[in-house]
Amino acid sequence: MSTFVLKIQDLDEAGKDWNFAIGTDWLASALADTELSAGAQDGRLTVHAQRTGMDVLVQAHVEAELAATCARCLADVPITVDLPLTGLFSPEHMRPHGSDEIDVQLHEVNRDYFGGAEVVLDPMVREYLLLEAPMKPLCSDACEGIAIPDHLRPPAEVFGDAAPDSRFAPLLKLKEALTKNEE
Ligand SMILES: [Zn+2]
Repeated sequence: MSTFVLKIQDLDEAGKDWNFAIGTDWLASALADTELSAGAQDGRLTVHAQRTGMDVLVQAHVEAELAATCARCLADVPITVDLPLTGLFSPEHMRPHGSDEIDVQLHEVNRDYFGGAEVVLDPMVREYLLLEAPMKPLCSDACEGIAIPDHLRPPAEVFGDAAPDSRFAPLLKLKEALTKNEE
């Protein structure tokens, strides 16, 4: 089900405004197969759209709260999206053969197509949010990773200075011998 839908009959050459909530449930399903997830709050999509000849020019602004996962400690890393989005939608029959993916970029006029009596913005908005996913999200640059609780730490003798296990004695002798050879 598409959520951000402009009806062609509502459009004119002067342009009109729309204001959509980007619900957390929309975000959750749009981001389901990605590294990102929905934040705690609804976002907002404000749209100004106008006809230009056969096409529909959409100038929008996307605001959303997303969350990524810290690459070191797996905590949520909040990501705030607050970006202008420009799209030019052409009639479906203008679509080049074999291209049904949209390639969305920041600071560009992005192209998509509409069939029937509606311009659907959902795929473009989704692609746009994905642009904001960091390659390696960190909750902070100083993140030290997952803290191991005390009761899960290995006992000190495993890595500590305690006397080596007698089973390692032959290895230690060998190491001594090698060290002497180097001298
Ligand atoms: Zn972290």
